[in-house]
Amino acid sequence: MEFSGFQCRICGGRLVPRLNELVCSNCNFVQHPVKETDFDISCEILKKKIETKEAIILLDVRERWEFSMVNLPNSVLIPMRELENGVSKLDKNKLIIVLCHTGERSNYAARYLLQNGFNNVKNLKGGINAWATRIDPSMKIY
Ligand SMILES: [Zn+2]
Repeated sequence: MEFSGFQCRICGGRLVPRLNELVCSNCNFVQHPVKETDFDISCEILKKKIETKEAIILLDVRERWEFSMVNLPNSVLIPMRELENGVSKLDKNKLIIVLCHTGERSNYAARYLLQNGFNNVKNLKGGINAWATRIDPSMKIY
């Protein structure tokens, strides 16, 4: 089957988020990260959006212990494995920028959202690590 949109790359089935990965609910195939995507956004562009007070939702999909260690102001925490239930809390009309530690889990989470009726979704490339390195060196890196 042809790879279409954000469904399973093998069978086209529905994707389900787990702790650190995205699996197909039909064939159980563990999805590979999509390397080059048009939904990636850089830290610098995110910084600009925050400064200009653009109406965005910063969705952090890391685990609670990671979030409590370091997080971005005004970000919303829904850990990856709670996304299926938590997704209804999110506003489909706003731009959602998903972030995690290094950008891989958030890549999956962004695909999950895109598959579930969210059309305006971006993935913070390099995650909070990249932000702490390039934008705010006072932030803890782990
Ligand atoms: Zn599948």
